[in-house]
Amino acid sequence: MTTGTPPVIVWFQADLRLGDNPALYDAAETGQPILPVFVHENDPADRWAPGGASRWWLHHSLEALAANLRHRGLPLVLRRGDCRRVIPAIATEVGATTVVWNRRAEGHLRPRDTEILRALQAAGVEARVHDGNSLYPLGAVRPGSGECYRVFSPFWRACMREPEPSRPLPVPGHMVTPVAVPPGEALSDWAFLPRRPDWSGGLEATWVPGETGAHEQLRNFLEERLAEYRFMRDRPDLDQTSRLSPHLSWGEISPRQIWHAVRHSQVEAASSQFNGHGEAFLRQLGWREFCRNMAYSYADLPTVPLNRRFDVFPWIDNAVALRAWQQGRTGYPIVDAGMRQLWEVGWMHNRVRMIVGSFLVKHLLLPWQQGEAWFWDTLVDADLANNAVGWQWVTGCGTDAAPYVRVFNPILQGTKFDPDGSYVRRYVPELAKVPSEFIHEPWRMPPLDLAGAGVCLGKSYPHPIIGHEEGRRRALSAFNTSKNEARTGTYS
Ligand SMILES: Cc1cc2nc3c(=O)[nH]c(=O)nc-3n(C[C@H](O)[C@H](O)[C@H](O)COP(=O)(O)OP(=O)(O)OC[C@H]3O[C@@H](n4cnc5c(N)ncnc54)[C@H](O)[C@@H]3O)c2cc1C
Repeated sequence: MTTGTPPVIVWFQADLRLGDNPALYDAAETGQPILPVFVHENDPADRWAPGGASRWWLHHSLEALAANLRHRGLPLVLRRGDCRRVIPAIATEVGATTVVWNRRAEGHLRPRDTEILRALQAAGVEARVHDGNSLYPLGAVRPGSGECYRVFSPFWRACMREPEPSRPLPVPGHMVTPVAVPPGEALSDWAFLPRRPDWSGGLEATWVPGETGAHEQLRNFLEERLAEYRFMRDRPDLDQTSRLSPHLSWGEISPRQIWHAVRHSQVEAASSQFNGHGEAFLRQLGWREFCRNMAYSYADLPTVPLNRRFDVFPWIDNAVALRAWQQGRTGYPIVDAGMRQLWEVGWMHNRVRMIVGSFLVKHLLLPWQQGEAWFWDTLVDADLANNAVGWQWVTGCGTDAAPYVRVFNPILQGTKFDPDGSYVRRYVPELAKVPSEFIHEPWRMPPLDLAGAGVCLGKSYPHPIIGHEEGRRRALSAFNTSKNEARTGTYS
């Protein structure tokens, strides 16, 4: 249906879906025509502009969103530039009465939104901001004193005392087509897809971005993997987790949709023995919720350690070690498998993220922000809140973190969580013939047997970049130095 009444603009950001989208639902409820808009900021100075893997995802996700909207008679207008300018400008251009959007969790975007609200108000355009990407509105679950919980367990207990997250909204049944559609850019002009070289083959083979792909992923998980989740979620070799993270990062599915689907899934209903798995999984969604609330309250979470003692930590500047870590050539099979999985498919299992993270900041003494930046560029699920909290947790400089002195042993971690080495063999094919007994420490294998397995250490596969004990001792000594500096007042 097409009418001449002024439109409502729906500003899509990281909520690229039609279902359970409060901003879109609000626009549909007005009965006015709807003009969906997406803005690509394209600011080279913005260090948190989407990285390479995210851009690949975003391209396909926008294509899927545009197709879904088109199917319901709506266009998707693509514009480039600073949102503070573009959103008020397009509202004036089309004579919109209202602009609606879903709130972002990134604290550094809060001043931007305030500016946009002011500019719209000055132009006589109403703005309504919704909470569409969390279980509970951002900032709603908070302690008696203070803006947000800084430790996960009390946060999650407080969530569990709240009523269940509200039911997801349906895709609006009736949406009015705008009469005139303002000009927009072509998605292909944004050059989000890698060209020379095109490294996206592994991503292409692994993921189906878009709302339909997200729901398909959820359905598969509920049918095939939830029933084992609690016992198997820590095993990178078994692939038991949902892999919903990139879909969540771009808001192709909402946490409320997932919450209610899990709660009411047949598996849950069929037998109470499955409840533990549902709880364990929803708790992970709780971590996401916790990270979002942290990021909302601490705008500099992605760059500044929450524990300011780490301001004086003696990090090392070592481009060679950083490169070896990035390329999966540290000589520790579980670390290298994780880094190569990341490069190949744009995703890494959570347990392995912890192992490679610990290795970077402890064994290599490289600053956590360098690991965070690499993840930001290479993860299809790159999410500022989850990534920042993850790295601060791994480093031990967050508020709810493993202490720095707990140094993960990559050999024991590998043996425990990839017991027969199949995860390593999948991503480090040069070790494919190494028997399970030696797969996490090939240097212990008798040289002749090693040669028989086709491995020549230092040639086909590197020697460990640093011995585990040496790395551990060096990390603890660096930690003690920073502790002493903090105590003697170098750090204030
Ligand atoms: C150093 C480090 C960096 C990380 N960077 C990111 C990131 O950029 N983006 C991202 O989405 N996650 C990040 N995580 C969290 C976690 O590793 C991923 O969310 C998870 O591996 C995604 O796989 P999944 O969807 O199969 O998870 P599942 O186990 O199926 O969990 C379901 C959902 O819960 C959320 N979740 C699970 N674990 C965590 C967690 N520890 N913290 C926050 N949310 C969680 C995710 O949204 C996930 O999709 C990071 C963790 C670490 C240790």
